[in-house]
Amino acid sequence: MNKENILGIDVSTLDYDSLVNAINEKIKSNEKMKIIAVNPEKIIMAQKDSSLKELINSSTYQIPDGIGVVLASKLSKGNIQTRVTGIGMMEKLLELANKEEYNIFLYGAKEEVVKEAKEKISETYPDLKITGYINGYCKDNNKIIDEINKSNAQILFVALGSPRQELWIRENAERLNVNVFQGVGGSFDVFSG
Ligand code: UDP
Repeated sequence: MNKENILGIDVSTLDYDSLVNAINEKIKSNEKMKIIAVNPEKIIMAQKDSSLKELINSSTYQIPDGIGVVLASKLSKGNIQTRVTGIGMMEKLLELANKEEYNIFLYGAKEEVVKEAKEKISETYPDLKITGYINGYCKDNNKIIDEINKSNAQILFVALGSPRQELWIRENAERLNVNVFQGVGGSFDVFSG
């Protein structure tokens, strides 16, 4: 299944290109998928926190975000060859969206941060359709859901910090006409510069 289990946590063995190809096929067949970044800290926390473990293992793609995860795989003679970071995956998905003309929505971070992140991403990909964004401090969840659905986004990046963003995704995924959900932590802050 292109996964291996590290201390009870499933981790994808796929590299960026294989992940992007698998994700693109699922978008084309209108499936929903959830991407979560797994680092050594999360694996350790999940040992004592069964709900975190369940949250990680119920995602579609658990990406090995951290050299410690790659090393743990190597030590147990596993197949994870390279690190796949949350922000690296986000960049690959932006490239995919640019190529396939998928719509993007950015949800999370402070208003000025998410606005600036949108502008910076648009400078890099002038034809990319970022069809909406909303800051991570809006208290009206129905408004958030409405804006995302109105945007017709296939790919949604949620930057609320972990595990808050993954919990939000789990709670709301069924109400959203979105294919790809990725929790991206502080990535909008990085993009905004
Ligand atoms: N954030 C948010 N709403 C909240 C709490 C946090 O939008 O109620 C944002 C915050 O502004 C920041 C991001 O979530 O942009 C959290 O980044 P952090 O680096 O702490 O996340 P991590 O990568 O450590 O999970």
